[in-house]
Amino acid sequence: MLQQLRAMCYDSILAKKLWTTQISILGKSEGEKVMNCDFGYVDIAFKNGSVVTIDSANTISEAVGIKGNKIVVVGSNAEVETIINDKTTVIDLQGRSLLPGFIDTHYHPILNGFFGKDEDAAIIATGYDNCQSIKDIQNLIKKAAAKRKPGAWISMMGYDQNRLAEKRHPTLEELDEAAPNNPVQCMRTCGHVCIYNSKALETVGIRNAADAANFPCNEIVVENGSLTGMVLDHTHFHIWSKVDYTEEQQFKAAMYSNKLLLESGITSIHDLGECDKPSYHIMQKLCRERKFKPRNYMVLHSIYGKPASLEDVDHFLALGLMTGIGDDYFRIGSCKFMIDGGTSGPSCATRKPYCHAPNVPGILGWERKEVAEYIKKINDAECQCTSHAVGDLAIEFMVEGYEKAFATNPRPDLRHRIEHCAITDQDLIDRMAKLGVCPSCNPGFLAWNGTNYTKYYGDRMRYFFALRSMIDAGVMVSIGSDAPSGPLNSMSILDACVNRTDRTNDKPVDQTQAITLMEAIRLYTYNGAYASFEEKKKGSIEIGKLADLVVLSDNILSVSKDKIRDVKVDLTMIDGIVEYERQ
Ligand SMILES: [Zn+2]
Repeated sequence: MLQQLRAMCYDSILAKKLWTTQISILGKSEGEKVMNCDFGYVDIAFKNGSVVTIDSANTISEAVGIKGNKIVVVGSNAEVETIINDKTTVIDLQGRSLLPGFIDTHYHPILNGFFGKDEDAAIIATGYDNCQSIKDIQNLIKKAAAKRKPGAWISMMGYDQNRLAEKRHPTLEELDEAAPNNPVQCMRTCGHVCIYNSKALETVGIRNAADAANFPCNEIVVENGSLTGMVLDHTHFHIWSKVDYTEEQQFKAAMYSNKLLLESGITSIHDLGECDKPSYHIMQKLCRERKFKPRNYMVLHSIYGKPASLEDVDHFLALGLMTGIGDDYFRIGSCKFMIDGGTSGPSCATRKPYCHAPNVPGILGWERKEVAEYIKKINDAECQCTSHAVGDLAIEFMVEGYEKAFATNPRPDLRHRIEHCAITDQDLIDRMAKLGVCPSCNPGFLAWNGTNYTKYYGDRMRYFFALRSMIDAGVMVSIGSDAPSGPLNSMSILDACVNRTDRTNDKPVDQTQAITLMEAIRLYTYNGAYASFEEKKKGSIEIGKLADLVVLSDNILSVSKDKIRDVKVDLTMIDGIVEYERQ
């Protein structure tokens, strides 16, 4: 209707005046505020572009006009030219793509911002580009210890044992040797597997293998009667809560994340938490002061394991609050918990054993019954529910839990979610479609780990991040980076959706679930807005929506499939303001 009315207006000699009136009427009828603007001209006009609108017909337009923080014209160059005057900033796209800003529906802003390559960083990066061997990791630990007082934590993350020269995890002894007087945590790239040294394990009372019995089984790895230093999932998160990050470090990290997001064209995030409650306060403050620019849908969740997440969610529910409190910059999202481990450790809970190591068990922090009971509680409180569920067993718990909750209180309108939702099958997907469940998947992981996944999961790769099957079944799946666990870069993510190729060796992974670029863009924009109940406000380039936009270096729809990842973000706009321009 909007497009038709707009077209009608331009046919009239009273175009500008009439159009202004109709926009106002439309604003009212759509439940939006009336736009009290003078539409005699627009503030910003994009011309000569390939505008990927992601409207219901996937229309490609030429030009867009912005007034204040809203999109007020979408159409041809000629249409936009009628409302340009000398006050309008005109941006000539020269054939480049203009897209709705990307929406990353699973991101850890402070955690990702903690990363730095040198020994001063709050979390020292140990990815392959910084550490190729355990020796390199030890050298970094020595440097870090030299700069810290005895007893101060050294926190690291990023190594992948498969890529280290030694082809194994570091050991407790190696960390002790590098820093005998400082607690050290050395997390694998997935964040679910961590090696701690003796000083670190002591902070939770683990001094020998016998102490491991006081913690959930299988989470503290003991070999030949001795501690290895390896700690998994929930117990690892518990120890992590002892690591001290200052408020200043957290502010700095959030602002570094802000920069990374803008460079990637990401204009909204769903914030999956990090450093316990202080991050709610810090992120709200930074969003309110408009220092952190991307819009933040803050999921109630602590990464420090079950007791910490329960505390946050229970408190919120007890107050009688509901999902959605806040404004366009910061709002409270879903209530989240965490069932299993990760994809790449691997430590997720699968229905059948892993292919490479059938005796290695997946991690389950919640029982089937507990999951169902907790979902019911959140559903009855009229909140959006979600949980970290990676393996098909954990996902089955979630789907079953939603079915049980809906038996007495069907609430598909709450758009319940599943985070990661990595290993599924057609049955689980069909049931999700029926329940209106909106998974947030992380196809970007394929770029970093695709070959290893094939080793771990075998023919289950046919339903690994099953975007094709989910779209076909009508599931409103969205895309999250899960950075720092996966790549944040928007073009890497689009590349992974379309090409499903491990970019560490350029080997293709199972292609069953590959989707088209247009579909990938929709999942990364409109479906992201849908997952936070904001699809009427953002997620596509349509009249009346927020001016959250991204300009790319090329016409992305015309580059060859394998060149998608070479496309750059040229400009990022949030709220009608250019927040980033590539130099
Ligand atoms: Zn995450």
